[in-house]
Amino acid sequence: MSINAIQFQRGLSLPQFQALYGSEHQCERALVAARWPHGWQCAHCGCKRFFHTRNGTGRLLWECFICGYQSSSIVGTVMEHTHLSLRLWFLAMYLLTQNKNAISALALKRQLGVSYKTAWLMKHKLMQAMAQRDERYLLQGRVEIDDAYLGGERAGHINGGRRAANKTAFVAAVQTSADGRPLYMRLTPVADFTNEHMRQWASRHLTAGCHVVSDGTRAFAQVQHAQATHERYVTGGGRQGAQTPQLRWVNTLRGNLKTSMAGTYHSFEHARYAQRYLAEFCWRLNRRFDLPAMLPRLLKALVTAGPLPLTLLRVSEVSS
Ligand SMILES: [Zn+2]
Repeated sequence: MSINAIQFQRGLSLPQFQALYGSEHQCERALVAARWPHGWQCAHCGCKRFFHTRNGTGRLLWECFICGYQSSSIVGTVMEHTHLSLRLWFLAMYLLTQNKNAISALALKRQLGVSYKTAWLMKHKLMQAMAQRDERYLLQGRVEIDDAYLGGERAGHINGGRRAANKTAFVAAVQTSADGRPLYMRLTPVADFTNEHMRQWASRHLTAGCHVVSDGTRAFAQVQHAQATHERYVTGGGRQGAQTPQLRWVNTLRGNLKTSMAGTYHSFEHARYAQRYLAEFCWRLNRRFDLPAMLPRLLKALVTAGPLPLTLLRVSEVSS
């Protein structure tokens, strides 16, 4: 699909969204189908027979016929312990997936009519679910990589892999098809671009047999420790480096990231939780070929990510 075809594809319209997920009952039904595609099963004893009942707040419960264990459709998901309606969660998913650009917590607050704290929590839970979903995949085949930085005044490229003050360093990686089309992007914060950290990055993100293409940054040669072959272009950096045709997609998509971040977030918003914001950008990009399917796919991510309490969301670790 060409870039234009992607931009002009039909998304999920607001009337379509309302027809599919306009009521609490419809949202519950969609959530149940995503959680238990083969029917409900007791998390304790595996029994498939249940009674329906409701808790004090009116939420529908499943009670196991054998062991009596009670659960609701949100227990064990990102939405566990939420006091918000499922309709609000689905609306948040709609706004996060169907907008051309990402949506900030502040914009989410305005659109949903909730407090900033609530909007922030929803936004970060949704982003974390996206991050965990994409972490399951390893890069394979031809992969363009580059060193990049986020934060401060700009997201961009600094030559030579030097650490920049007040900026988050990250590895930008784009898996392309054999004929050079971009398929999949991964952006991973790293402490720095030393040999040790690049070796760790490669072993964690690359499938054996990858063919990695990079600029002259020396530490990228470490990908060979992950049974990858390495093709290196010493470009001299700057404009010349950005025009290296073999690194076309990692440069182009890094530029798109810069534009997207600048248009959506203030730098203070993404400084501490860079990993999550980068993962959100990748998750959306990696699923760009089918816009309407993004909402059900995000729902799948929410039910598989597990509960994400605030204490976990507040941890902002940089890993390699
Ligand atoms: Zn049971």
